[in-house]
This record gives sequence, C-alpha cells and structure tokens, in this order.
Amino acid sequence: MSSKRAKAKKKKAAELARRKAASAKEEKRMPVTEETVKKEVPSETEAVLPVAPEVIETTEETVSNGTEKEKSENKKEKESFFGKLTAILKKGNGYGLGAAVVVGVVLLVAVIVLSIRLGTVTKELEAVQAVSVDYQTELADVKKELDDAELELFSKEPEIVYVEVYPTATPEPKPIPTATPKPTKYLVCVDAGHGDWDGGACIEGENYQALRAEKDDNLWMAKLFRDALSEYKDVEVIMTRETDVFLELTERTDIANEAEADVLISFHRNSFDGEADVNGVEFWIHSSRPKDAQSLANDLLDSIMQVGGMSNRGVKYGSMSSFREDYAINRRASMTSMIVELGFITSEKDNAAYDANGEAYAKEMAKATYEWLVEQKTQDN
Ligand SMILES: [Zn+2]
Repeated sequence: MSSKRAKAKKKKAAELARRKAASAKEEKRMPVTEETVKKEVPSETEAVLPVAPEVIETTEETVSNGTEKEKSENKKEKESFFGKLTAILKKGNGYGLGAAVVVGVVLLVAVIVLSIRLGTVTKELEAVQAVSVDYQTELADVKKELDDAELELFSKEPEIVYVEVYPTATPEPKPIPTATPKPTKYLVCVDAGHGDWDGGACIEGENYQALRAEKDDNLWMAKLFRDALSEYKDVEVIMTRETDVFLELTERTDIANEAEADVLISFHRNSFDGEADVNGVEFWIHSSRPKDAQSLANDLLDSIMQVGGMSNRGVKYGSMSSFREDYAINRRASMTSMIVELGFITSEKDNAAYDANGEAYAKEMAKATYEWLVEQKTQDN
C-alpha cells in the first residue's frame, strides 16, 4: 500500500464523518425516513469522488446559516437602490449631491423654458390655423360665387340676335386721275362676205350643186375671229352678219361707219378657174395705200404665215380689175379697212389648211389686231 492510497482513505473517512454530522443536523429540521437516510448514504463510488475542500466549506456554511442569510440578503436587496444612491451621494464628501442638485435645477429650468416656448408655439400655430380657416372660408365663398355664375350662364336661354343687313350701295368707281387716260374700248367690225343666195366662190358638183360655198367659210372664220377677239377685255366686236343672210355692200359699210368702228375686216375666199393649183393668202386695201391699213394687213398676213399651211400672196391695193378702182368695202369705209382672201376655195391645199388651222388663224389674227390697235391708239394720243 502506497502513501497516496493511505491519504485517500483518510480523506474518505473524514468525508463520511462530516456527512454524518450534516445529516444529523438535517434530521433536527425535517423527519428522516429510512428511505431518505438510505438514499442520502452515498454509495462507495460516490464516496470515491474527490470533493474540493472549498466546496465542502461553502456547503457547510450554507447548510448551517441558510435561513438567516436568506433573510439578510432580501433586506439588502430592498435597501440596495437607496443604499447605492446614498453611497453615490456620500461619495466625494457631498460633491455628488451638489452636482445632482445642479443637474436637477438645470433640468427644471429647461422644462420651464420648454413649456413657455411650447406655449408660444402653440399660440402661433393657433393663429396660423385661424388665418388658414379665414382663407378657407374666403376660398369657399369664391367657389360658391363661381358656381353661381356658371349656373346662371348655363340656365340662361340662348338669346337670338337678329341682325338686319342692309345692302350697301355699290360704290361708284373712283374717277381715274387725268394723268392716266381712261382705257379705250376698241371696236372691231367683222364682215363675213356674201350670204344667202350670194354664195360667192363655190365648188360645184356634177349637178351644179355647191359642195363648198365661200359664204359659209367666211361666216365660220368671222365667228372664230370674233370669239378670239372677245378674249381681250377692252375689245368689242360688231358683226355685219351672224347668219346666212344677204347684205348689200353698202349695208355692211354702213354698220361699221355708224358704230364708229376702229377697224373693218371683210372675210373672203379666192377662186381660180383653171387646171393649175393657184393658192395662198392676199390682202386688199384702199388704192391710196393708207399706212394704217397697210401696217395692219401686213401684221395679219404675218400672223397667218406664222401658223402656216398657206402661201403669202402679199398685201394688194385697189382691185383685181384696176389699182385705181377700189372694192366697195375699202371705198366706203370711213376707218381702217381691208379685205382678206384667206386662201383659194378652189385649192385643196388651201382648203385643208383652212379647215385644220382655222382656229389658229383666227387666234393669231385677233392677237395681231389687238396689238395693232393698242399701238395705233398710243400713237394717236
Ligand atoms: Zn368673196
């Protein structure tokens, strides 16, 4: 047996003795049954466990002074807050108390100041709220006024307003200043040669029936020329005949003279009795060779040549029989006058050109006539 084991055995014995004593004390407080005693008696294994001496001491103390200690600790707990406070206050020879008082005063002052401030702010808020309420009331009033106005507007019956409109008199055209002369209306007398029983030059059939009569060609061209001239606003046209009627030569010149026409143009077609194809356009003017008639005849001839289809036989004066003897139209007319032989009715070439270019001839002749009239009037003024 070693010394270590001997020591452990000694300790074990001491432990057992202590436990017995403890259980004896316990027996005084509570009745111990055989069972509990048995249970409390540690088994050999339990007894072998090493127990630290400190733990044993504490257990001993707790066991011996258990109830008294509990009481004192409860008391200590109750007094701990005040105790601590007192301790804090007592610390540093009363400086803590002074600090606490100062802090308290400061807090009190702060609370007072804040309360006063809160009161002021509350008052201000109340004032603002009052103003807000005023504005809201005002706004409500305005809204109501608007609603009333709208209601009145839409509930009104639509008013029908009758407006009497009096036709205002068309203002008199203002007189044009004398510096610029009033535009002159040009008057052109258009004569379609022959008519009715006087067919003029004709192409006859086997039974002497007229296949193509000059009177009809003349009227057709006269009308085309009239229409073309009518395009010029300041040109007026007078016709010696518009239908298939016969008029004496004197009647034709009378119409032009009475109307005081600026120009008289008599439309005819030429003829040639023979095998040869004689064709072309020629103009006949007064034997005295008046410059105005000569210039206009030249312009008209040029315009026809411009369209083409016919040859130019020139401007002639007098008559076929004599250069001293005038055709009745040129002899009796008191204005610029001329006879135009617009191609030969006996020429197929001229007839084709006449039919094809009739409108173009009329248009170009009208343009030339208008331009001549404008130029002539400017010279006269
Ligand atoms: Zn004729």
